[in-house]
Amino acid sequence: MAEIVRESMEYDVVIVGAGPAGLSAAIRLKQLDANVSVVVLEKGSEVGAHILSGAVLDPSGLDALIPDWRTRGAPIKTEVVEDNFYVLGPAGQVRIPNWPMPPLMNNHGNYIVSMANVCRWMAGQAEELGVEIFPGMAASQLVYEGDRVKGVVAGEFGRDPETGEPGPSYEPGMELHGKYVFLSEGVRGSLSKEVIAKYDLSKGHCPQKFGLGMKEIWEIDPAKHRLGTVTHTMGWPLGSNAGGGSFIYHLENNQVYVGFVVHLNYENPYLYPYMEFQRFKHHPMVAELLKGGKRVAYGARAISEGGWQSIPKMVAPGVALLGCSAGLVNVPRIKGNHNAMLSGKAAAEAAFAALQAGRMGDELTDYETEVRSGAIGRDLKRVRNVKPLWSKYGLVASLMGGGIDMWTNTVGFSLFGTIKHGKSDAAATGLAKNFKPIDYPKPDGKLSFDRLTNVAFSFTNHDEAQPAHLKLKDASVPISVNLPKYAEPAQRYCPAGVYEVVSEEGKDPRFVINFQNCVHCKTCDIKDPSQNINWTTPQGGGGPNYPNM
Ligand SMILES: Cc1cc2nc3c(=O)[nH]c(=O)nc-3n(C[C@H](O)[C@H](O)[C@H](O)COP(=O)(O)OP(=O)(O)OC[C@H]3O[C@@H](n4cnc5c(N)ncnc54)[C@H](O)[C@@H]3O)c2cc1C
Repeated sequence: MAEIVRESMEYDVVIVGAGPAGLSAAIRLKQLDANVSVVVLEKGSEVGAHILSGAVLDPSGLDALIPDWRTRGAPIKTEVVEDNFYVLGPAGQVRIPNWPMPPLMNNHGNYIVSMANVCRWMAGQAEELGVEIFPGMAASQLVYEGDRVKGVVAGEFGRDPETGEPGPSYEPGMELHGKYVFLSEGVRGSLSKEVIAKYDLSKGHCPQKFGLGMKEIWEIDPAKHRLGTVTHTMGWPLGSNAGGGSFIYHLENNQVYVGFVVHLNYENPYLYPYMEFQRFKHHPMVAELLKGGKRVAYGARAISEGGWQSIPKMVAPGVALLGCSAGLVNVPRIKGNHNAMLSGKAAAEAAFAALQAGRMGDELTDYETEVRSGAIGRDLKRVRNVKPLWSKYGLVASLMGGGIDMWTNTVGFSLFGTIKHGKSDAAATGLAKNFKPIDYPKPDGKLSFDRLTNVAFSFTNHDEAQPAHLKLKDASVPISVNLPKYAEPAQRYCPAGVYEVVSEEGKDPRFVINFQNCVHCKTCDIKDPSQNINWTTPQGGGGPNYPNM
């Protein structure tokens, strides 16, 4: 193949991903010096299109970044007024009172927001300051110079789907070079994954842990709507099959976010996270709330859960990992947006100081120091044992032990030290022969929906003619290894129905990848027990088009 020649553009800082982390970094750089050149690339068709965290926002990140956000028209209006926590059984629930909860679990002063809309607003703030934002531009490759990351390739499309060679409408895209490159791709970023592997950034840290979060937006009967109410549940339907739980947030316009998270370290390969979510909505408490309502949107996204123990080294020559590219979620609080913003701000300040000193392409160690020893580190360190306690000893132990640990950490010590996470989520998958298939009730089309119908409500689109962005390292593995050993769990763990095993009489089973349905949650890249699926950025763009998730 002839060498591909690309034009290039030079910037001080190139930022990949217009989520809260990337946008915060861009805004902070321009606040510090209007002359610093900053570009932000976003794979969604517009900023917010791929943002799923319909969210209780701890405003501490935004307070630090844009202290006057309240008077700048930020779409952050609904303050939390009520916090509920229930443990569910199949037919009832027990409410855990708020008083034994550690103070950090309190949502007082937090807001129920559409993070997609918050990101749209932040993008406007960034553009006013002079940041260049290119939506619909996936950064598909890293550009190296010697040992350092020098930039990214964006906007390449038109490769032949069969051969991978440039096709008739091929566009090579551009190289965007930066003195520093920030990867703020969110959880399991594809370029971040490459950087973590190349520079061995996870060495000495626990493996990253993940959950799969699925969410629907419902418009409900106004008589049942309680603006500002936040409800979390655990227990049924997952029981001891997996860790996880639900969230129900009442936002404006009689809407509620109904979400469900399944920890991806589950063992039973027959577990079907999407169907667990659908089943959850039939719990009497939830069904009563949703009855007569209408589901208006659906989406899914992985969430990082490893916390403090799993933060990799965050810098390598010329490059830094921001937000959930480094896994900065506080798991018991289910909050990462504030830390994403704080990390963006810290990375910007470190890069600005480096540029002032005439440096480029080196490691921004001050950024890493600030994350680990500043507000983000403090936030994550005091909850570090909740997830490993849950994984090792189950829900009750995690509620009791994790609760006590969060209390003692509030005053500065832990009875447990730092508990390590076990294996990776992929390696946690058990052999099918050791488990029984789970019988899930059929969706009723009123409260629960089949997967493909729901995917239509994510407004996902990929051009049929583009090459599949879900690549198998070895095309034979799904049928020759995963099917006999694990009953090919991709059929079930994917919340968008991308993967199918098609069995036709008289023929060998076939593994089919319907990449057009992919909602970019990254679960396959995380959970495939053979680690054979590589999620790459789609050439020619595409993905979900979330309205106000
Ligand atoms: C179901 C669910 C519920 C959650 N609830 C809450 C909550 O209530 N409160 C809270 O604070 N946090 C919550 N979180 C966590 C929160 O979503 C994350 O911590 C936060 O989104 C991290 O921000 P980020 O900027 O690092 O990444 P993201 O928000 O994921 O943004 C990354 C952006 O980069 C883009 N991108 C990725 N790769 C590329 C590429 N190669 N080229 C170009 N663009 C790219 C993506 O399209 C996306 O727009 C939740 C997460 C989930 C999944």
